[in-house]
Amino acid sequence: MNGSPHRCNFCGKSASKVKRLFAGYEAFICNDCVTLCHDILISSPIQEDQDTVFELPLPTEIKAFLDQYVIGQDEAKRNVSVAVYNHYKRINSLRNTQKGEQDDSIELEKSNILLIGPTGTGKTLIARTLAKYLKVPFSIADATVLTEAGYVGEDVENILVRLYQASNYNQSLTERGIIYIDELDKIARTEGNPSITRDVSGEGVQQGLLKILEGTISNIPPKGGRKHPEQSFVPIDTTNILFICGGAFEGLEKIVARRIGKKQVGFDAENLNISEKTPDILDYTEPEDLLNFGLIPELIGRLPVVAPLRLLDKNALFSILTEPRSAIVKQYSRLFEMEGIKLTFEKEALWEAVAIAERKKTGARALRSIFERAMLNIMFDTPSKDDIEEIIITPEVITRSGEPKVIRKSQKQTA
Ligand code: ADP
Repeated sequence: MNGSPHRCNFCGKSASKVKRLFAGYEAFICNDCVTLCHDILISSPIQEDQDTVFELPLPTEIKAFLDQYVIGQDEAKRNVSVAVYNHYKRINSLRNTQKGEQDDSIELEKSNILLIGPTGTGKTLIARTLAKYLKVPFSIADATVLTEAGYVGEDVENILVRLYQASNYNQSLTERGIIYIDELDKIARTEGNPSITRDVSGEGVQQGLLKILEGTISNIPPKGGRKHPEQSFVPIDTTNILFICGGAFEGLEKIVARRIGKKQVGFDAENLNISEKTPDILDYTEPEDLLNFGLIPELIGRLPVVAPLRLLDKNALFSILTEPRSAIVKQYSRLFEMEGIKLTFEKEALWEAVAIAERKKTGARALRSIFERAMLNIMFDTPSKDDIEEIIITPEVITRSGEPKVIRKSQKQTA
């Protein structure tokens, strides 16, 4: 740029004094000024128009989208679809009320959701898929690491910090995001353990969660933690954040069965055969069961939608391998296709993986690691071989007791 007569129209430096000078319509800007503007935008992002009305997807549309990713769990998907629909209807209604376009005599309550079901059955997946569909920021928090303010561990506010970060530091997007709180059952009040000086019972954490679930304005440190005392706080209104909580709630079956058992003496013949072993026992969950489990009543009140998820049977696990848009089989096939190789899974190989996963009792969670282990050597060797036409995965590959069948291009040509 030496010798150029131009200058940066922002700072006035000449072309020779800067590293780059960008030409625009009758104006120039230097690299330093671009960086400066960029930093300003990051530290105080442009906020979205608060008045935009949310385009409401219908419950059937939400469910159809979930169906593409989540196998089975029909009841939970239906519940969640309706809850989300009502949630965004409520946000729009609040906006209209604020603008005076609607009377405010009926207040719609927030429909936070509680997903109850064993590990690896799709609770997090449902929450994550919803966020993807709604194009809102999403974050996951683990209730077990949360503590009451003042104790060692994470403050409840940090849940909001993560959502704020997931929204790329956009306050208004954060305020209508989705937060999944995992392992809610682990902060249940434990029986016979009254907290005296320390919050060992989880009740304090429940109280903390309650506040943000209810809707509050929480001042969060954008970078989280207590390590950055210099940062200024950002107020986040949690009124319109949708909270989806999840947990395995082991032992809840017993509580539900016991309650039904007590009531059914003498009448309600329909329920006579219900016991904790009844497969869909959690469908009968009532708020009082959650109370007996150890959740505080106020928190239960803030989780009006309770959706149970089922244990995944063999057929469901098989479908999970092959059907969802991001199914493991589809993902591996794509990876090999990019190398010009056809990857085929023998049906028996998939059933073998299902059998192993079922024994592990961690739902669909085990499937990925089974494949990752089984496929490692193949993934390692194949890129350095260029003669491969097709690789066939046999059950022995899955149990790691044999090699895959390999069809070579040269074999095909000579055949
Ligand atoms: P959790 O119920 O413990 O939250 P996740 O949703 O995290 O379980 O699921 C663990 C893994 O298993 C994820 O990789 C997810 O893709 C898969 N998975 C679990 N349940 C299902 C399901 N119903 N349909 C499709 N994939 C599932």
